[in-house]
Amino acid sequence: MNVCMDAEITEDQFRRRCRAFLEEHATGAKFDLPDLRGANELEASKSFQQKVAAAGLAGITYPKEFGGLGLGKSYDRIWREEYSEFPDMTTQLIISHGMCLPMMAEYGTDQQKARFLPDLITSKAVWCQMFSEPGAGSDVASLQMKAMLDGDEWIINGQKVWTTLAHVSDYGILIARTDADQPKHRGISMFIVDMGAPGIEIRPIHQIDGGMHFNEVFFADVRLPKDWLVGELNGGWGLATAMLMYERVAIGTGSTSGVSTPTSDYAIKTARKFGRHKEAVVRQQLMQLYSEETTKSLVSLRTRAEMQAGKTPGPGGSLSKLHGAKIARLSRSLIMNVAGPEAAAFEPGDEEAARHSKSTLRSFAANIAGGTDEIQKNIIGDRVLGLPRDVSVDRGVAFKELTVGTQ
Ligand SMILES: Cc1cc2nc3c(=O)[nH]c(=O)nc-3n(C[C@H](O)[C@H](O)[C@H](O)COP(=O)(O)OP(=O)(O)OC[C@H]3O[C@@H](n4cnc5c(N)ncnc54)[C@H](O)[C@@H]3O)c2cc1C
Repeated sequence: MNVCMDAEITEDQFRRRCRAFLEEHATGAKFDLPDLRGANELEASKSFQQKVAAAGLAGITYPKEFGGLGLGKSYDRIWREEYSEFPDMTTQLIISHGMCLPMMAEYGTDQQKARFLPDLITSKAVWCQMFSEPGAGSDVASLQMKAMLDGDEWIINGQKVWTTLAHVSDYGILIARTDADQPKHRGISMFIVDMGAPGIEIRPIHQIDGGMHFNEVFFADVRLPKDWLVGELNGGWGLATAMLMYERVAIGTGSTSGVSTPTSDYAIKTARKFGRHKEAVVRQQLMQLYSEETTKSLVSLRTRAEMQAGKTPGPGGSLSKLHGAKIARLSRSLIMNVAGPEAAAFEPGDEEAARHSKSTLRSFAANIAGGTDEIQKNIIGDRVLGLPRDVSVDRGVAFKELTVGTQ
């Protein structure tokens, strides 16, 4: 429950309240290990967010009637500025808070917002994103999951893949095909799904780092209420694009605003630990990482400032996302250089070595999750730089006529 904020809190008072709260509670995420399915880490993020809400600091810009504080965007900026000086406590809420919450707030009906927003804001309910399918990743408009209207319910059949935290989510935002006679981008609709609905089967995917944070999700005659359609029927592609923009901003800029360099701080600490911090090549790598991370923070600040000025996130979000992937790659090669075998394997119980190894192995995901580097470069080329678009061979062709995915 979000505690009511005083009617007219000034920006200075709000800043002091944020800082006092963060000093007491943002002391670094603590969760029990091993955490192969990511459930403990998610619980730690949820518990922090529930404290944020109890302190009257959650859902800053969302309307009061839907569980927010109804404050202006400048208050959101204050929270992010203050938060940037503390450890990120809500890393596992990127999808739920960074993507599903703004989507529901922007495109949900008043009835949907009244029902779902309050619990989304406090993280009493966690949401996942179900876009990717075995034959539809970069080209997600080739998706084959079907939704058919049957009286007052939608019936969903098909398969999603790579669904992060599906197994611990309460709801999901899903896109499915509602009209295969239309060209592939036009016959898609967006829905809300109850992850506990009969007919949903969630199977873990085993990752290279030993974890199982994402899943295959199978739908067999899953029924949803008719009014869980989000936006217009067959208008889902526009909404999916908007959600992908939010995704790139969420992944690329994180939940804070400010210049912070956690990856290079970690790399410097690791170089010192292995006694390599005085070597010229290592110092050069550290400096490159530091400059990249600082530049990314500045680009992110610009993106956030545009959003705070009222702009819906645009293709510029791809810049921060691409930058984040580059930082992950630089950090990986640096940690492998200084930590040697510890960057790939570790003895059970050696938590520090486990962190080196996991961060090295997980770094590969940064070039793929939220859209691959090649796709970000295409978006920046087409939509930021105005270069000619890729040739399209399926424009105007009914989806059912196309050879895509397993069709
Ligand atoms: C850690 C992680 C978490 C994820 N979580 C989720 C989630 O919660 N929900 C969800 O829906 N999805 C999720 N995904 C899926 C992710 O969105 C897809 O993996 C991604 O969009 C790429 O799709 P794909 O894996 O099918 O690769 P493909 O699209 O098959 O791409 C294969 C290769 O071809 C290249 N390529 C494809 N098209 C082009 C082109 N037009 N031009 C140039 N190169 C191209 C790609 O860059 C890539 O190198 C997650 C992925 C990861 C790694």
